[in-house]
Amino acid sequence: MNTIEEIRSQFPALQQLVYGKQLVYLDNGATSQKPQCVIDLVERMHTGANANVHRAMHKLSDDATALYEGARERVRQFINAPARENIIFTSGTTASINLVASSFCRKFVGEGDVVLVSGDSHHSNIVPWQLACQACGAEVKAIPVLEDGRLDMEAYRRMLSGRVKIVAVEHISNVLGIVNPVGEIIALAHAQGIPVLVDGAQGIVHAKVDVQEMDCDFYAFSGHKIYAATGSGVLYGRQELLEAMPPYMGGGDMVDTVTFERTTYAPLPLKFEAGTPNFIAQASLAPALEFAARLREGEIAGVVEEQERAIIEYLKGALTGIEGCRIYGLPEEASGVALGEPGSKIPLFSFNIERCFPSDLAQLLDKMGVAVRTGLMCCEPLMTRFGVTSMVRASFLPYNTLQEAEYFVASLQRAVRMLR
Ligand code: PLP
Repeated sequence: MNTIEEIRSQFPALQQLVYGKQLVYLDNGATSQKPQCVIDLVERMHTGANANVHRAMHKLSDDATALYEGARERVRQFINAPARENIIFTSGTTASINLVASSFCRKFVGEGDVVLVSGDSHHSNIVPWQLACQACGAEVKAIPVLEDGRLDMEAYRRMLSGRVKIVAVEHISNVLGIVNPVGEIIALAHAQGIPVLVDGAQGIVHAKVDVQEMDCDFYAFSGHKIYAATGSGVLYGRQELLEAMPPYMGGGDMVDTVTFERTTYAPLPLKFEAGTPNFIAQASLAPALEFAARLREGEIAGVVEEQERAIIEYLKGALTGIEGCRIYGLPEEASGVALGEPGSKIPLFSFNIERCFPSDLAQLLDKMGVAVRTGLMCCEPLMTRFGVTSMVRASFLPYNTLQEAEYFVASLQRAVRMLR
C-alpha cells in the first residue's frame, strides 16, 4: 500500500453508494470500517476454525485457540506490553472499564475515598465508576475541562490527594479530539502512589501506544474502532494489580478447581475471561492491528500523516468560515504539536452551527451521502460543560481523503442554506 486510494481499496464498505451518492463515511469515532484481511479471517473462522477455545482436544479447537492466542500476542506487541498475562480480552472499552471499576474498587476503594475521572469522559468512563463507588461508599469527581478543550491541569494537581484511589482519564476525547497529556497525568498520580487507567478507545487509533513508556496501570480499548470485528476489546493491566484484584465475572475457563464450598482461579489472563469469549472477533485483532501497524511504517506512514494534516488544516479554516460555526476543542497550541503527541488535535471535529439543529444537519448530510455523528456522543457532562445538548461530529481515518473533507464541507454549506 503506497497511496490513500490503495488503503481505501481494502475496505469494501467504502465502495458503496447511499441514496445514489458515493458514501463519505465520517463516523469513524463511533466505529471503523473493516479491511478485507479482517473480513477474510472472520469468514475463514466461521467456515473452518469454528470451535470453542481452550477446551477441546480436536483440530478445530486447536486452530481457533491458536488464532485467539495469536491475536493476544499481536496486541501485546502493538502496545508493547511486557507479557501475555497483561492482556485481558473483553468485549470492548466499556467492558474493560467496568471490569477494572468493579474489581479494583472492591479491593482497594472504601468509604469516603475518591475516584478521579477526566471531565471529557465518555459515559463508559463515568458510569462504571459511579456504580462501583455506590457499592463501596466512595465518590466520583471530575477534572474540569478548559474553554479550549484541554484538561485543567492546575485543578488536577489540586485534586490529587490521599483520598484519591485511582485516576481514570481519556487518552483522546471522542468529542474534542485532543490528545490529553496522559504521561504528565500518570507521573503526577504515581508521585502519590495512585494508579491510572487510560481510556484508549480513540487513543489506540490515533496515537502510538507503548504502555511501558506511558507507564499507565490500565489501558482499555475496543477492537471495532481500529478495524477489528465488533465484540473485540482489550484491557491491558499491570500484572501486580491484576493479580491482586478479584475476578469480575465467574464461569467457565476462569477457574482452577471448583467445589461447592470453594473455587480457585485460573492464572492471568484467563482469570478475567469467564465464559465463551467472542473468539472470532478477538482473533480478528491480529489482522486488524497488522493492518494498522502497516499504515504507521515506511513510506505510507508519511502519506497518511500528510493527508491527516491537510484534512485538519482544511477543516479548521473551512468550518470556521461558516457563519455561526463553533468548533469545540481547538486549542491554539495544537497547531505546533506533532500528530498523536500530547496537546495535538486529531482529525475529529465536533461543532455546532447557529440556527441549525445538529440532527437536521446530520439528516440532510446523510441524504447527500455523508455519514456524521450527532447527539450527546455519550458525553452528557461534557455537553453540559459547553452549554449544549448536541453537537455534530466528523471523524476521519487514514482511508478518508481531502476530497471527502471538501465534499463534506460543501454539503454542510448546502444543508445550512436549506435550514436558514
Ligand atoms: N471511550 C471513548 C473515548 C469512546 O469513544 C468510546 C466509544 O465511542 C467508548 C469509550 C466506548 O467504547 P465501546 O462502546 O466500544 O465499549
